[in-house]
Amino acid sequence: MTNANATPAPGEAIVIGAGIVGVCCALYLQRDGHRVTLIDPKGPGNGASFGNAGNLGWASCVPAAMPGVLKKVPQMLFDADAPLKLHWGHVPAAAGWFARFIANARPARVEAIADARQALLSRLHEGYQPLLEDAGAEDLLDYSGLLMTWESEEAYAGSAYALELRRRRGVPMDVLDGNEARQMEPALTPSVTRAVHFPRLAHVVNPLRLTETLARHFERRGGRLLREAARGFEMGPIGPVAVTTDGGRRAADRFVVAAGVWSKHLARQLGTRTPIEAERGYHTVFGDPGIALRAAIMSADRYIAVTQMETGIRATGVAEFADPERPADMRYAEMVQRRAQGLLPGLRDGQRTQWMGPRPSHPDSLPVLGRSPRFPNVVFAYGHDHIGLALGGITGRIVSDLVAGRPAPVDLTPYRPDRF
Ligand SMILES: Cc1cc2nc3c(=O)[nH]c(=O)nc-3n(C[C@H](O)[C@H](O)[C@H](O)COP(=O)(O)OP(=O)(O)OC[C@H]3O[C@@H](n4cnc5c(N)ncnc54)[C@H](O)[C@@H]3O)c2cc1C
Repeated sequence: MTNANATPAPGEAIVIGAGIVGVCCALYLQRDGHRVTLIDPKGPGNGASFGNAGNLGWASCVPAAMPGVLKKVPQMLFDADAPLKLHWGHVPAAAGWFARFIANARPARVEAIADARQALLSRLHEGYQPLLEDAGAEDLLDYSGLLMTWESEEAYAGSAYALELRRRRGVPMDVLDGNEARQMEPALTPSVTRAVHFPRLAHVVNPLRLTETLARHFERRGGRLLREAARGFEMGPIGPVAVTTDGGRRAADRFVVAAGVWSKHLARQLGTRTPIEAERGYHTVFGDPGIALRAAIMSADRYIAVTQMETGIRATGVAEFADPERPADMRYAEMVQRRAQGLLPGLRDGQRTQWMGPRPSHPDSLPVLGRSPRFPNVVFAYGHDHIGLALGGITGRIVSDLVAGRPAPVDLTPYRPDRF
């Protein structure tokens, strides 16, 4: 007699996308005994996971759409120096996204979204720990905390609600004045007058090396990594039976779509449409910075994050809404560079490198994380916007729970693929 509640036996699984999210999904499925194939044309960690700010931020529950955003967006779009960029040609494609984004700025929605983000963020170390331990990659995390800074009283007052959202969700923080902030981080400009320190908050000192190390560990344990692009699916009676790629036909019985912003087209082929936009961010790495930072920094007035990496100091910022394949406009990486040098006057600009990558963003600042509404053997795991590095591990853990039929550690209702 078979037990209807029995966990399904391990089988053949395919994970599409080898960013930090896909690699963590592949590792967790492998831990459950599945034979796993990971497919990515560019190899591990070369999408958004390459060049992010590295923060593993339990302090990031605050969504992008906040009360009052309707007034700020037009001003930001017309100000050449603002961090928000939208190309006129992209307006028709993004209009619906922005309409939903603004609808999510209502206080009740903001509270619900912050709860849903925090539910995942508070488990981020639980998600990563087993993977980092197994792969011997714990040295990639630095727990020196995060310093958020303000240079204008008006901007600080404008952040009161965002700080309150964090405080009410139990995020530990110390409020500092400018001198206290400079004692903690002497490289800061004298114009910093306010700061909040989030103690022991971790950052990854080399996000690419993290994804690559985990992917190598996956291969060492028998996982198969194919440098191919998924093009579509071959369908069977209950769902897909194979992924068609530029290299051939790859058969499996379980499928995970984890291709960041590129998941949109793959999910659509499986009958699920989610409004996802490429929120393209830029970075400049100062390879010979002349200073070393004691904590990761986020400047609320300059809209940048600055992080000490093993390759130098990395400054990130800008949200450019455009097709992910449109060529990068490195003037924005230069804007980030100038802002970082304003915040940290001693920052030398030798040996700089620049980069652009697409944050996969839904208008409600939540990922899609759940079983396909149409096909029981498909799980979607994409759209982690500004916190995908932080959420890679816990996402992988939840995906493996869904595939195994185990209860997930959080209520997955807010992340349903069919919520839009
Ligand atoms: C400037 C910037 C700063 C950021 N800072 C932070 C931060 O401090 N902390 C944080 O948590 N997050 C941060 N983020 C967000 C984070 O980087 C992303 O949320 C995260 O990397 C998303 O990971 P992913 O695996 O879903 O997507 P990606 O890393 O984009 O990976 C998707 C993969 O899918 C592959 N792919 C595409 N099409 C196909 C196909 N057809 N077949 C197979 N594979 C395909 C791509 O090649 C790619 O490798 C930042 C992002 C940016 C841009």
